Amino acid sequence: MNIYDLNQQDNMEAKVHPNDEMYLFFTTHPLTKDAPLQAYFDSGDSMKSSLLGIFDKIGFRMEGANSFFEFACGYGRFTRHLVKMISPQKITVSDVYREAVDFQKEMFGVKGFYSEFDPADVAIPERYDIIFVASLFSHLPLKTWRPWLKKLYESLSDNGVLIFSTHGKSCMANPSDMSDAGFLYCHMSESKTHSFEDYATTYVTSEFVHKAVTEETGQPVLLEMPKCLWSYQDVYVVRKPKTDELITNDESCIFCKIIAGEIPAYKVYEDDDVLAFLDITPVNSGHTLVIPKKHYPNLLELPEEMACKIVSIIKKITPAILAGVVAKDFNLGLNNGKLSGQVVDHLHWHIMPRFEGDGYDLWHGKSYGEGQAEEVLRKIKENFN
Ligand code: 5GP
Ligand code: ZN
Repeated sequence: MNIYDLNQQDNMEAKVHPNDEMYLFFTTHPLTKDAPLQAYFDSGDSMKSSLLGIFDKIGFRMEGANSFFEFACGYGRFTRHLVKMISPQKITVSDVYREAVDFQKEMFGVKGFYSEFDPADVAIPERYDIIFVASLFSHLPLKTWRPWLKKLYESLSDNGVLIFSTHGKSCMANPSDMSDAGFLYCHMSESKTHSFEDYATTYVTSEFVHKAVTEETGQPVLLEMPKCLWSYQDVYVVRKPKTDELITNDESCIFCKIIAGEIPAYKVYEDDDVLAFLDITPVNSGHTLVIPKKHYPNLLELPEEMACKIVSIIKKITPAILAGVVAKDFNLGLNNGKLSGQVVDHLHWHIMPRFEGDGYDLWHGKSYGEGQAEEVLRKIKENFN
């Protein structure tokens, strides 16, 4: 007796819609056609395991989530497993197959709305703590790939996570066919109803995804898990920061534009909070700027925790910079305020490798007159709180 039979008897959720394309796929595939229901249930179950593994990695507690949006849900291959982990009232599903959405609402008691191929034609009704999109970005054409990424990201709640899967280069029969842009759209798919104009088979490189995520969401990829879904689709996670963590995208600030991906830069290091990139007019080769992603005009406004983080990143990346340009010594500079030479009003550290005979001099020292050092020290100490 397979799972389907067992569930048929005591669990209505097990019912499979006769038009479920995923189920029909398993009925024809040579490896699964003898036990298609088992394969169908196993495939949804493995999505659940992958998702739980991802949450574990990013320290996200699914129980804490108030809303889960499963986009491109089909007829519920995954939803029937999801409703056992999270209350159906917290789940919203959507698909271009209207019949599938209706079926899921009735069968599982979840919320649902109809989707369209063009994101411009869809209004997503809520904000969600989790948005899960399996096997959609692996089928979208270029004209909707980035717009869907942007739209779904915008539908996250603060601190929410978007999780989506792609076909990476490793899924390609001939990886050398990949385009220079890292995007390949092939006119083949298991769908019998969608036109190739809207839906086929898409392969993307990791670089393409990272660039698209940074440019469309302003955030870096939080987690990339190659071949995480069914051992062949790559999974990417993007997190929307809490409002108070959001980057102040100061329109006039050149470094904010670099962070938002509006201006290119040679990035040396990047994480959620910090970016390091090559200075456009280096005093020496390897001259690197290190900045917090949030716009602070100067060091004194930077929260202590972030100051510690940035200094530790400077310590981490400097040896690689020095090794890269074959230098041993460096100056670490921070111009704070106009008189000091600060030109860009977004706090930044300069890491400047030094070379024998590079021609730079140090600042010239003066001396204190009689009693002046004591006087200065006294005045400084008066100002300590
Ligand atoms: P400051 O004088 O404010 O301490 O230094 C600002 C630094 O930012 C300068 O060294 C300058 O060359 C660098 N810079 C200014 N605009 C850009 C840019 O668009 N891209 C990069 N990579 N560096 C820049
Ligand atoms: Zn800025």
